Amino acid sequence: MDPILQLIELPFVAEYLQRIGGENALTVMKLMVEMGNAVTDEQVAEKMGVKVTVVRAVFNRLHYWGIADYTKEQNPETGWWTYTWFLVKDKIKEAVIGELEERESELRQKREELDQFMFFVCPEGHVREPFEVAMEYDFRCPACGAELQPLDVEEEKKKIDEQLDQIWRAKKILNEI
Ligand SMILES: [Zn+2]
Repeated sequence: MDPILQLIELPFVAEYLQRIGGENALTVMKLMVEMGNAVTDEQVAEKMGVKVTVVRAVFNRLHYWGIADYTKEQNPETGWWTYTWFLVKDKIKEAVIGELEERESELRQKREELDQFMFFVCPEGHVREPFEVAMEYDFRCPACGAELQPLDVEEEKKKIDEQLDQIWRAKKILNEI
């Protein structure tokens, strides 16, 4: 599989690309790769079964981030311009690396905190507070009144490690691009 496709399908990379490119960003990007990374808005719109304006909106957002770019060509007879769009792989790499590094340091910090502090959580997920704050709340959730429970540290670490593992996989893919 094309490494770009592998990369953009990783859950948090996909989430990031959708955040900057909009909800259709992933579909458009996948099609661009599959169609040989030289496409017009009409071609992509036809494949997706959506209006051209939907695809153009994605192109424009990706262009803003430098992730997509275009070449334009004028038809000498009609005078109309055709825009051919492509993904800029180096920019995708750069953007993803930046995002990965930020995530990784956040996760590592969170993991360290788990060893240093005791956390209490609402069983309904409303709050996650260190011991001192939980004590101020009388160990009751300020949102729903439920009794706060000590956080399952091992479970939490497992979740963090899974995410760190995803980052590691993404870095491996990035090295192949
Ligand atoms: Zn609650």
